[in-house]
Amino acid sequence: MSHPSGRQYLAIPGPSVMPDAVLRAMHRAAPNIYEGELIEMTAGLIPDLRDVARTAHDVAFYIGNGHAAWEAALANTVPAGARVLVPATGRFGHGWADVARGRGIDVQMEDFGKSTPLDPARVEQVLRDDTGGQIRAVLATHVDTSSTLRNDLAALRKAIDAAGHPALLMADCIASLACDRFEMDAWGVDVAVAASQKGLMVPPGLGFVFFGPRADDARRRMDRVSRYWDWAPRANPESFYQYSGGTAPTHHLYGLRAALDMIRAEGMEAIWTRHAVLARAIWAAAEAWSEGGPLRLNVADRAHRSHAVTALRLEGDQGTALRRWVQDNAGLTLGIGLGMAEPGDPAWHSFFRMGHMGHVNAHMVLGALGSIQAGLVALDIPHGRGGLEAASAEIAAITA
Ligand SMILES: *Cc1c(COP(=O)(O)O)cnc(C)c1O
Repeated sequence: MSHPSGRQYLAIPGPSVMPDAVLRAMHRAAPNIYEGELIEMTAGLIPDLRDVARTAHDVAFYIGNGHAAWEAALANTVPAGARVLVPATGRFGHGWADVARGRGIDVQMEDFGKSTPLDPARVEQVLRDDTGGQIRAVLATHVDTSSTLRNDLAALRKAIDAAGHPALLMADCIASLACDRFEMDAWGVDVAVAASQKGLMVPPGLGFVFFGPRADDARRRMDRVSRYWDWAPRANPESFYQYSGGTAPTHHLYGLRAALDMIRAEGMEAIWTRHAVLARAIWAAAEAWSEGGPLRLNVADRAHRSHAVTALRLEGDQGTALRRWVQDNAGLTLGIGLGMAEPGDPAWHSFFRMGHMGHVNAHMVLGALGSIQAGLVALDIPHGRGGLEAASAEIAAITA
C-alpha cells in the first residue's frame, strides 16, 4: 500500500516543510529589479531578519546555501594562512573546517565526538595555550544537524572572554535559527550564519551572514576581500543590486517576506516554545519506545538536544527499513543518518533522523510519531509501550 493521497510530510532536517503562504508568495510574475515595490520590500526584510537573530547589527544575504554562508563568513574575517579553532560535535563542524582549509586557513580541530556537547573549559584552555594569539576565530556549530547536539554558545563566549583571547565567536545557526533559542547580541556572538531552508521555511537558495562590530573590524583589517563575498556593500547597499552582488533572488525574497510575516505574527518566544514542546513530545515517545527495545536517542541528556532535529538509532539495517516503511505506507519521509556511520558501513542503515523545524505543529508531529510506531509494529521491532501516550501528554501540557 503506497499513499499518493493526503499530504506528504518531509520530516528531514531541511529543506523543511514549505508553508503554502510562502509558496503562494513565490508564485508570481517576475518583478522589475530596477524600480518599484521589490526594492522597498527587500529593505523591509532586514529589520525582521535582525529580530529573528536577536541582533541590532548587520546582515548580508547571498544567493547560495549554508555552504555559501560558511564561505562568506570566513571570506570577510580570516585571511589565508591565519588559524581558526573548530570545536566539532558532529559532521557540520568538520564541514565548516573543510571550507576554511579550502581558503588556505589553518584549522585547529578540537573534536568532542558525536554524543556530547563541546566543553567550554577545554576551549578556554586551548585559547590560553595560544599565547601567540594565532587563533582568529572559534567556529562553533549551535545545533549540529547530524548528531543533533545543541551547544551552549553563551558559555562558549564566557570561556573565550575568561581566556582573555581576542578570537571572534562565529556560530553556525543554520539548523537552529527560528527553532532553538538564539540571542546573537546577548550571547556575544560576532558572526552567525544561516540559510533559508530550515527554520526560515523558504526553499534552499539564500544564505545569511549576521555580523557585529568586532567582526566588521576584522573585515576592515583584511588585505583583501573578494568582491562577491564582501559583506560591506550587501549590508549597506547604495544600489539595489548590491544586496545580492548582482541580480536579486527575486522569488526567494517574496517567499522570505511571507515567512518573516508568519514569524513576526507568531513571535520569537512563541516559536521557540512551540519547537521545545514538539521536541519534548518526540523525546517522550522515543524514550518510551527505547524501554524494552533497540531504539536509542543519540543524545542522552535532554539539556543538550536540539529542538529542531532528533537523531535516532536502531539495530542492523532497521533504521533504513523503518524509513522505507513510513515512506511507502504513511506518506512520511524521515531523514537519513548523517555523519554517524559512513555509507558502506552496515551501521549506516541503523541511523535516521527526524526533522521538526519550522512549519510544524502538534498534529504533524503526533501523526509522524504514530506512523513511526506503526512501522515499529509492522517490522516487528521490539519497543516499549506508551510512546504515543507520553507524546500526547507533552502536547496536552501546553494548556495545563
Ligand atoms: C544544513 C546545514 C548546513 C549546510 O547547509 P547547506 O544549505 O546544505 O549548504 C550547515 N550547517 C548546519 C548546522 C546545517 O544544518
